[in-house]
Amino acid sequence: MDVSRIVLPRTPSSGEPSGYSHHVHGALPGRTRASATPPACRCYNPKRMPVSFPIEKVIGKARSGRLLTPHGEVETPVFMPVGTQASVKGVPQETLEELGAQIILGNTYHLYLRPGIDTVRRMGGLHGFMAWPGAILTDSGGFQVFSLNELRKVTEEGVTFRSHLDGSSHFFSPESAMEAQIGLGADIIMAFDECTEYPADRERVRTSMELTLRWAERSKKYFEEHKQEVPWKDSRQPSAVSPQRKQVPHRASSPVRNDNGEERNEKRNEEPERDTGNWKLETRNSTQSLFGIVQGGMDRELRRESALRTVEIGFPGYAIGGLSVGEPRALTREIVESTLEHLPKDQPRYLMGVGTPEEIVEYASLGVDMMDCVLPTRAARHGLLFTSEGKVSIKQARYAQDEGPLDPGCPCRVCRRYSRAYLRHLYASNEVLAQVLNTIHNLSFYLDTMRRVRHSIQLGEESRFVSGVWSGPKP
Ligand SMILES: [Zn+2]
Repeated sequence: MDVSRIVLPRTPSSGEPSGYSHHVHGALPGRTRASATPPACRCYNPKRMPVSFPIEKVIGKARSGRLLTPHGEVETPVFMPVGTQASVKGVPQETLEELGAQIILGNTYHLYLRPGIDTVRRMGGLHGFMAWPGAILTDSGGFQVFSLNELRKVTEEGVTFRSHLDGSSHFFSPESAMEAQIGLGADIIMAFDECTEYPADRERVRTSMELTLRWAERSKKYFEEHKQEVPWKDSRQPSAVSPQRKQVPHRASSPVRNDNGEERNEKRNEEPERDTGNWKLETRNSTQSLFGIVQGGMDRELRRESALRTVEIGFPGYAIGGLSVGEPRALTREIVESTLEHLPKDQPRYLMGVGTPEEIVEYASLGVDMMDCVLPTRAARHGLLFTSEGKVSIKQARYAQDEGPLDPGCPCRVCRRYSRAYLRHLYASNEVLAQVLNTIHNLSFYLDTMRRVRHSIQLGEESRFVSGVWSGPKP
């Protein structure tokens, strides 16, 4: 079979959508048997598919496709900018749109502590709160609990931890982590897992992996019982403008004149409508998607077992977690490559927390569909800029009189307008604008890199894109 011609159907034509287990009719959680009209089972209704993932092209192990979420389409392989506290640090949402970001990340741990889940829920979830109409993914909070809390206490039930903000005590369980993520309302949410530390001996890795598997089952159970509680507002709510989606207004509202001759909106007691585009329509009958996470430390056999047993529990997508925790890069690659072999080929695969531009290209070539990392944004704030000529440390004296653009090969608004000398001055003067401009460039570089990767896959050029990116220092 010619793999380059594989095109998966958008919606399953028969049988269950892969990754969804069938629940027992009449036993829908949260509903009483006394209910006059039993709720219709919607598990076969393609319109209620929270995400679908048509793969369009496969070259070697790499694939390009489209992740269809309730808040729009995400072209894959994709790099997802990290917006820890409902903000990609230094970059307004309209700039993210301009850069072509289709999905961003939020961190449950941070948002749970501040501003709190209830506040975000009341604002219509993260989409409404941060005025971001595109897709969002939240992590489960597990990783931050493990990385920011030395005093955490892990039990079968969950994790007790102290807030890094005020030292107050908190508890996350698979159930409360799901409740928090449903309240935040991201399109894709993650099972609560334990990120195994590195190094760890085999017994410890196995114990941790088993705990993650039990937590995955509990996460799924709670999610299935509560997924209808997602706070997405219906289409009458005003929403942010999405320039990419402006062309398909879903409702025309003709202004009428009141007694004073002033124009007002036809519908009473409503805020004047902003241009909502058509994205709200997609959310009306949808729910979030819960992805499972494969753990298993640096042990290929345990990774295989974790993958198989997580797939057995059944999720619409799978993440590889517990990597980039201090292990050598060659080992990361080996574990990623071997784990991918055990994940379903027709479902999205998400590698958490990687990497450099070279690495994201490499992982895409291995068949990873989604990646996220704080590197481009964090490095930018430290004056480290990724360019087509290698990594630039903008504080270096060599750029003090340099009139050239940061990256001659970059079409971003920073490279089109400003000189290296100016960017160096901003950084040296500790100007806020330095962080803003540096971050915009680095994100643009990452997003462009993945755009080129997708293009190469679509053209069938496996070898060309793998060799095209250089993350070492600029000569
Ligand atoms: Zn640029």
